[in-house]
Amino acid sequence: MMLAPRKIPDGHSEQTQTVVLCEENREKAPTATEVLCRARIDRLGDTIYIECDYSTSVALECSRCLKPVTLPLAGTFTIICKETATGAPRRDETEEVDFFFDGDCEELDISAALADEIMTALPLKPLCCENCPGLATADAPRENSPKSSETESVDPRWNALKKFRKI
Ligand SMILES: [Zn+2]
Repeated sequence: MMLAPRKIPDGHSEQTQTVVLCEENREKAPTATEVLCRARIDRLGDTIYIECDYSTSVALECSRCLKPVTLPLAGTFTIICKETATGAPRRDETEEVDFFFDGDCEELDISAALADEIMTALPLKPLCCENCPGLATADAPRENSPKSSETESVDPRWNALKKFRKI
């Protein structure tokens, strides 16, 4: 996500961006490509507070059946950016600051923070569905047989007719 610090006004502003993670950041979050970001920005002088909602979809592998599965992923993260005078040493007391920029900075790339956030939000054991039966074996087919699923999906209104059939 790119910010133009010089164009961010004092006070509150909002920005929405579709971020395409660059190669470097995709190493961290290889499963996400396009990420929709909505940032709420509050600027107080040389400090910019950003609260960013993101949503994307990630391509993973089901931890049970190993089939590829695409899952939605969304979250919020906050970062703090601070302007420093060009060449000025960065003070240790500003530990909470995630990104520094100087007055000449045209664009500030906060995608690395986004990639970190996505990486930590990835599910440890992704599942293709809640009831994933796991790997298919010859004895136990993965899918329910069509017959049983047909029975389940019979319209209950037919039950009334079944009674007649028995007579
Ligand atoms: Zn599965």
